[in-house]
Parts: sequence; structure tokens; C-alpha cells
Amino acid sequence: MNTSLDPNNKRLADLLFPHVSKSIADLRRMYPARNLSETACVTRVAPSPTGFMHIGGIYMALISRMIAHQSRGVFFLRIEDTDKKREVTGAKEVIVKSLEDFGLLPDEGLIATGEVGAYAPYTQSARLPIYHAFMKHLVANGLAYPCFATEDQISTIRAKQESEGLKPGYYGTWALWRNVSFDKIEMELQKKTPYVIRLKSSGKIDQEFKHNDLIKGELVLPLNTQDFVLLKSDGLPTYHLAHIVDDYLMGTTHVIRGDEWVSSLPLHYELWNSFGFPVPRYGHVPPIQKIGDSGGKRKLSKRHDPEASVVYYQQTGYPEPAVIDYLINLANSNYEDWRKENPYAPIDDFALSFDRFNKSGPLFDEPKLKDISRNIIARLDAQAVYDRVIVWAKKFDAKFASLLTRYADYSTQIFGIERGEANARKDITSWSDVFNEFSYFFDENFEKPSLSKMESILDKTEISTFIGRYVDIYDSADDKDTWMDKIRLLAADYKLAPN
Ligand code: GLU
Repeated sequence: MNTSLDPNNKRLADLLFPHVSKSIADLRRMYPARNLSETACVTRVAPSPTGFMHIGGIYMALISRMIAHQSRGVFFLRIEDTDKKREVTGAKEVIVKSLEDFGLLPDEGLIATGEVGAYAPYTQSARLPIYHAFMKHLVANGLAYPCFATEDQISTIRAKQESEGLKPGYYGTWALWRNVSFDKIEMELQKKTPYVIRLKSSGKIDQEFKHNDLIKGELVLPLNTQDFVLLKSDGLPTYHLAHIVDDYLMGTTHVIRGDEWVSSLPLHYELWNSFGFPVPRYGHVPPIQKIGDSGGKRKLSKRHDPEASVVYYQQTGYPEPAVIDYLINLANSNYEDWRKENPYAPIDDFALSFDRFNKSGPLFDEPKLKDISRNIIARLDAQAVYDRVIVWAKKFDAKFASLLTRYADYSTQIFGIERGEANARKDITSWSDVFNEFSYFFDENFEKPSLSKMESILDKTEISTFIGRYVDIYDSADDKDTWMDKIRLLAADYKLAPN
């Protein structure tokens, strides 16, 4: 039976979404397709506000922004806050600020002063009526259904599937609420039984799905067969539904995201097709990796690796352009040569290419980052060094910041030593180095040697013996090394400067 012709589907949709009056077509009229050239790419970065800004998030935003800008397209920021359990207060601000700090301001979406752009709201929790309109469409067309299965029932199903050696999950004849009469559903709704809304998957087991990924190339995956949850019991959409609705209305042409989403691709294609929308191109970015303790490669981990966090780079004081250059280099290794030839060119002049991506995930290599950083800092003039160091110190080293403020001109002068020449010094790799390199120029940091040892020869007789011995060994014919050796021996007897 073709479920889409069943009049009960329409009744069910009205019953589930009585307040939804807008259709998908109405929403399309409110958010019309973008008027861009055919070659322009629309990309986005879509972080969840968990409070932790992973360097991978900056990497993804950077790639997306470059792809959009080099094609005269649009790059926007969308806040994916539909998982309320993971959300942390202030996390949105962290995202906005980090993008701003790294020079990755979006063209649309959330910025420091609020949301900008014609496709607002760009924050998913403010888009619930939109998701409900799309869900209503699926239910009305027999492509989604409410499911009242309890957690216990789902575990029982899983256990049975496992014992029978069958594919686990909620699908086909295992899906308890997939083919249930309107009356039975209505009864549950009247009882206010909690429910989710699931996709009614049309996928068949053991069929293949092929995808040509922008970064990973040809992928062959099993077709989706699962009736995934699209709307949770709290009325919030899952990522699967939300990103499709948003990327459709916001006109995303290239979805660039982490490769942990590869396995969900068959589901996402099925959803795009259920709505009858053209599927955008997908590119799955492999994560930045490092060599773990066991010698194997592993993803930079939020829990174990400080360098996974954006804060690490800011605290160390790597200039943002250095981090950006480093990250582009991880994406396309030919960037390094381009950068050598174009040291001052804006990054958008470089043609980032999906074909050149490292498919298995680049290795994080801090010495390389240091090297890039050192070279960038060496090119700055003294005033620029001062301006950047003080911004850094105000955040991370208050004592140094106050010295820099008190001795602004003097500091600029000392930062100018051996700077601005063809072979400028390259001894600063990050702003946190500066204090160590230059601290002795400030009287406040001069540590007086301890007098305790000297005090042992304050005794007058001892002093005269000491001087007598010095006179004895002194020979004006000695060269400086011989003189020094004699002094060392003498001093050692008094436990002074033995080295
Ligand atoms: N909110 C998703 C995440 O943080 C974004 C994935 C995407 O870019 O589509 O993983």
C-alpha cells in the first residue's frame, strides 16, 4: 500500500501538530533560495555550545570559510543547541569569540552583537516551529510516525536481535509502532504517553549506498534501514532532521563536517530524498591526530590533550595567523610553499583544494607550529610585537602587563633589538616566551644574589687573608684565562662561585 495516499496520515499530522499552519512551501517563500552564481559555495560551521572549543572546530570553520570565500559564496555560523543536556552557559559566546579571535568571522549567523543575515534565526533552539512544519509534512506523507516504545521495550528488542544474530536496531518488523492504526495512536496521545517521531525508513537490508565525498572520495556504505528518531519527546529535533531542514532553507551547497558523521550519511540521504530536496555536496574532514603513548595515532582528545583546546594556543601565545597558517598546512600541504612565496598575502588568495586533503587525518606537530610562529613573529616590527604582547599579557600575565604599561617606550625599544633586519632574531616562538627572553632588561626583575655566603668572610682577619692570597696569586703577565683559573681556585676555597 502506498502510505502517502492514506488519509489517516494527514489526520495524524494534524493531530500531532495542530499549531503548525505553515507548509514547507510557505517557509521557502519566507527564506527564498539564494541569488548567487552557480559556482559560489555556501558553507557553514555548526558547533554545539558545549563550552569547549576544540581546535578541530577552528580547523573546520577555517576550511569552510576559505571554500566559501574563494568561490565568492557565503560562510555562516549556526548554533546547534538541540541537545540541552550538553549545553553550557556562556558557550555560545566562547564560539563567537574564538572565531573572531582567529579572524574567522562569519558572513551570517551569530556574531558578538547578535544574529545577522536573512536566514535567521541561526540558533536551532529558536527554530522549533520550522522543524515542526517539516515533520508535519513527513507524517502527512506517511514518511514518519509517532513511536511510544519505552526504553525497556527497546532493550528487549535489542537483546532478542543479538541472541538471534540479527542486525540490531529499530526497523522493519521490529519497529513496534511502524504500522499501527490511527485509533491506537490517538488513544496513546489521549493518555499523554510520551513519544518520539521516527522516520519510516524505506531502506532494504543488505543494499549498498554509494557516496562521492568531497574529501574522502568514493565511499560504499550499507543503505539505511533504521527508523531513526527525528523529533525527541521534548519536541526538539535530532541533529539528523535539524541539519537537513536548516541546510535546505539556508542554502548550504557544501556541508563540511567531521568524519564521525560518515556513518550517518545513508540516513541523511534518505531524509533529503524523503523531502524531495536536492542533496548538497558533503565533505568529511578527518580529525587532527597525534601519536599516543602506545605509539599509535589517535584523535586529539578533549580529555587528555591540552592542545585539543583553543585555549592552549591562546595561553601559549601563538599568534593567531601562525595557528591559521599551521592549520591550512594540515589541510593542504602545498600551502607551505605558497606561503613562502607569498608571505604577506591574505589566506583567501590561496586556492584550498578538496583533492589535496590528507584523507586519513593529519598529525599534530607542535615543532612545526613553533617554526611557523617564530617566522611570523620575526617579521613584525617592534611596535607590533609590543602591541600583541601587551594584549596577551593583560590576559595571561598581569605582572608582565604592568611592566609593559609602565615602560611602554623602553619595552618597544628592547623589542626592536636585532629586529627588522634581513636576518632578524627568531628567538621568540610565542608571546609567553617574551618575558623570559627580555625580563633582565627590567630592574624590577633583577634578582639580587644572596649575601649569605659573602657574610662568611666579613670577619676582618679573613678578609685580609683573602686579599693577601689574591695579591700572591696575581701576576700582571697572566693572560685572562690563566687569571680566571687562579681566581676560580681561590674562590672555591671560600665556596664562592665554584663554577
Ligand atoms: N553540531 C554538529 C557537531 O557539532 C555539527 C555537524 C555539522 O557540521 O553538520 O558535530
